[in-house]
Amino acid sequence: MATVAKVVVDVPTMQTNQPYDYAIPADMVDQAVPGVRVVVSFGKGTREVMGVIVATTDQQDFDGELKPVLRVLDDHPILDAELLALSRWLADDTFAFWITCLQAMLPSALHADTKWLANGAKTVGSRGHVATEDFIVPLLAPDEYTTLAEQQRRNATRRIKLLTALAQWAASHDEPRLHAVVGPDSFDRATVTAGAKQGWLRIESREFYRRPYAQLDAQARTQPLTPTPQQQRALDALIPAITAEQDRTFLLEGVTGSGKTEVYLQAIAATLARGRNALMLIPEIALTPQMVRNVKGRFGADVAVLHSALSDGERFDEWRRIERGEARVVVGARSAAFAPLTNIGLLIMDEEHETSYKQDDAPRYHARDVLQWRGAYNHAPVLLGSATPSLESRARAAKGVYTYLLMPERANQRPLPPVQVVDMRSAQLDSASGDFSTVLLNALRTRLDRHEQSVLMLNRRGFSSFVMCRECGYVAKCPNCDISLTLHLDSHTLRCHYCGHEEAVPTVCPSCGSRRIRYYGTGTEKVEQTLHQILPEARVLRMDVDTTRRKGGHAKILKAFGQHQADILLGTQMIAKGLDFPDVTLVGVINADTSLGLPDFRASERTFQLLTQVSGRAGRADKAGAVIVQTYNPDHYAIQLARHHDYERFFVTEMGIRHRSGYPPYYFTFKLTVSHPEDRLAAKAIYQLAAELKQSLSDQAVMLGPTRGAIARLKRRYYYQIVIKYKKEPQLHETLERLLTTTQVGSRNVFQIAFDREPLSFV
Ligand code: ADP
Ligand code: ZN
Ligand code: ZN
Repeated sequence: MATVAKVVVDVPTMQTNQPYDYAIPADMVDQAVPGVRVVVSFGKGTREVMGVIVATTDQQDFDGELKPVLRVLDDHPILDAELLALSRWLADDTFAFWITCLQAMLPSALHADTKWLANGAKTVGSRGHVATEDFIVPLLAPDEYTTLAEQQRRNATRRIKLLTALAQWAASHDEPRLHAVVGPDSFDRATVTAGAKQGWLRIESREFYRRPYAQLDAQARTQPLTPTPQQQRALDALIPAITAEQDRTFLLEGVTGSGKTEVYLQAIAATLARGRNALMLIPEIALTPQMVRNVKGRFGADVAVLHSALSDGERFDEWRRIERGEARVVVGARSAAFAPLTNIGLLIMDEEHETSYKQDDAPRYHARDVLQWRGAYNHAPVLLGSATPSLESRARAAKGVYTYLLMPERANQRPLPPVQVVDMRSAQLDSASGDFSTVLLNALRTRLDRHEQSVLMLNRRGFSSFVMCRECGYVAKCPNCDISLTLHLDSHTLRCHYCGHEEAVPTVCPSCGSRRIRYYGTGTEKVEQTLHQILPEARVLRMDVDTTRRKGGHAKILKAFGQHQADILLGTQMIAKGLDFPDVTLVGVINADTSLGLPDFRASERTFQLLTQVSGRAGRADKAGAVIVQTYNPDHYAIQLARHHDYERFFVTEMGIRHRSGYPPYYFTFKLTVSHPEDRLAAKAIYQLAAELKQSLSDQAVMLGPTRGAIARLKRRYYYQIVIKYKKEPQLHETLERLLTTTQVGSRNVFQIAFDREPLSFV
């Protein structure tokens, strides 16, 4: 019998990255099992903390008397053996605290919070977040109700009405929802309560699910399409791997419109037919509502959807449906990689090149690695799909590490749209605006005349609006962080998106006193105004952070555009994703260059991906499409090759550059960041770390830095960083572990070290 629980406590320090032993009181033996949350006391005194039991045993490692487990918070394990093992691997792989990894796997409704710990954590466990509703349960037989109804006084009309209804419910075994029954033209609550007192009925509180997509579930299911030959070839490779339960990775490279979705859907169907379940990740659900609709359309209520735009309650309920085996297909964004789905037979990652799959807070994982870990655990294939695979994945496919599947044609045989590159250095600009070349403007006019739709993308480096003085160039910045404040038009305040600092919008410049302080929008607003001037008859929908801040904002705009309520959809990068509108025949990119200018070795790759994605929005149905790209760098290879839809040439060219300059995928990379409230001490710590690293690294490894962080000051802390590039450093992991656990850099509360394996960028 297990008498000792190994508990990972919610005290994130490196010293507590191993489980602690606690005694299991005799009356808790049945509940205190691996995968439940518990409350234990930690350290000296009576401080109570949350923890997760990761194992139980009858032998203690710690000699001395063990403290007892105080309370068990869950009535069943909320993390199964797979997720517990995954959490340990994740902690090792990302150098994160184990407890942080465990919490990353749980919906926020199940996270520890100090409030409920202070309250004794009795009422709030996994039960406390369940939504319940009252139901009316008839207790007598139908004819008993009829008899009772006859015995009532004539004028007791309400009672008679209730008894008659109860007779019906009892006959049909209906247990109606109380709130649906009580109402102005039915029963009042007092009558129902009186009926309960009489022993006629019972009011029973029952759990129900908050269902975000109930409407979609009610719709008729779509039928599988007959695969095109290229889809059939992909399926012929995939389905045997699903059936044979092989943990292989496939890279499905398919041009935009090649029909990758149908391949996913048929592969999922094959998985379900085999009695196994499927997990599918998509980059940002808010931006690609069509994918959820497609998967729900085929598999209905068997599909659970997990993403951050759901309310905590909705997410918790979808999570429970998965945990209970009531959903067999999970579609979700990054963190859905940890969905409590069992018996997984297929893992899919759509748009596998997307940066949103990498988390930039601890644990700094890439969802692709998590899927591959779960694929190995479950003996299931992983399918990565993209029109523009990441260089890392395409290189692995070239080496044969991944199985390479290519779909070079559109499913409907439509050619990819021709792309015209407009050289803005010499372009004739319409006098009304420097943003529109005559070519683009004329193309927009033609679409208007033909009642066709256009998509216009403004490639922006950031996404936010800010305030600047036209006199002296002053930009409002956060007093705690080295970051400009973002203007929120709705509340008319300036807010720091890093620390939450908030202040009023100034009317005079705090620096020079001038009144010429102006608001600079996302750029899209300015372009929208210009469009109104030069094409007054055009109806324009704008999609950017300002217009999509509210819940469901994206969906509303996309729906309106889909219903042809506008001629032009104008937006930032967020419109480049999987939109599929049949009447869009023109895509215009107002400025292709901004992403090229990023100080990032992936700048060309990002630009190529973005241009390819957005071009793919044109001419998807019967009408031919066209793309116009405005740029000040018309000869840049990323722009030229995107123009020719030539991923292969781009891959080869870019690999050459990465090889010559020693970047991924030829090198592995690792970023190490140190921060401290005092600049001097942060600098001292990073140089100390650099010195120690230099000693243990081989001379094959390259160290970049130490340098100041790209954001040198954040939340009143100063940041410094080192990037290591290496090919083979078997000692590296151990060295970093040692650096983390030794106290060389001082007390951990003041210094913070962050490790990032394969960072998305060096800045
Ligand atoms: P991708 O995700 O590869 O860009 P989609 O999956 O969106 O492409 O497919 C593009 C279009 O082709 C969609 O409208 C889809 O319905 C259609 N399509 C895909 N496969 C087939 C097929 N086998 N037969 C007919 N139409 C198809
Ligand atoms: Zn000023
Ligand atoms: Zn700040």
